Amino acid sequence: MTQPNGADDGGFRAQLAAAVARLTQAGVADAPRDARLLMAHALDLPVTRLGIDAPARLTPAQQARLAELIARRASRQPISQIIGRRAFWKHDFHVTPDTLDPRPETETLVQAALRLDWSSVLDLGTGTGAILISLLAERPQAGGLGTDISDAALAVARGNAARLGVKADFTRADWFDGVTGRFDLIVSNPPYIALSEMAALSPEVREFEPHGALTDFGDGLSAYRRIAAGAARHLTPNGAVLVEIGWQQGQAVARLFAEAGASVRVLPDLDGRDRVIEAHFGPDPVKTA
Ligand code: GLN
Repeated sequence: MTQPNGADDGGFRAQLAAAVARLTQAGVADAPRDARLLMAHALDLPVTRLGIDAPARLTPAQQARLAELIARRASRQPISQIIGRRAFWKHDFHVTPDTLDPRPETETLVQAALRLDWSSVLDLGTGTGAILISLLAERPQAGGLGTDISDAALAVARGNAARLGVKADFTRADWFDGVTGRFDLIVSNPPYIALSEMAALSPEVREFEPHGALTDFGDGLSAYRRIAAGAARHLTPNGAVLVEIGWQQGQAVARLFAEAGASVRVLPDLDGRDRVIEAHFGPDPVKTA
């Protein structure tokens, strides 16, 4: 954060102010918050200790580290990718450019899953593994399988499970293509942004998150078509599906699962917007016939 006038700029306050100014200029929405987070990261401090433990002056190495972090954020890279982790539900998850950044609204799905009775769970398109690992951490007796079409994402998910001490299986699959067996619960936060909506996303999402995790390159509903079509064949009798949806997709996705034979509810997130489809499939017709 060298100042053009060559002033003595190594002080903590001057460095922080310069970082806020740079991020503000770059159009970052909450520049003061992000500057503090990255300052804390540069100093290896928890952000809650920044006001207490920060040194009066930064060493040249700390200044260089901060400058690099601020430059990345000014390019609009998401904070989670810069610091490599994101808090979700009760844990911190390692996040990379190969994985969707876990979002708070997805906790609605976790909450809904924990109201149901299940001892096996399949997470389609697991990404960081945030949903699956959060669920299995709450139900240590249960078993779970996470799939992804991206090997790089699977590596991140496996690492997260190991680091958090959660036992889960992971395998490469294209929705149900590559999945064998039946599960009491199927969960997914699939790519649901229509290709036509991609241009309107913030640069953080559009330029840095993996497009294959965001959009189906179509109308935003194709993953739900695949999941609805294959669900009954991969559920135990009376099994359920929980999928995250875009807030305007409630009706369309509810219809897809109703047409597949399920009874369906639409659940809101904490902002009151449609966010999760809960679909219950009846007893396996082969077994009850
Ligand atoms: N909720 C994400 C967003 O709006 C999209 C995630 C997804 O497509 N599953 O950026």
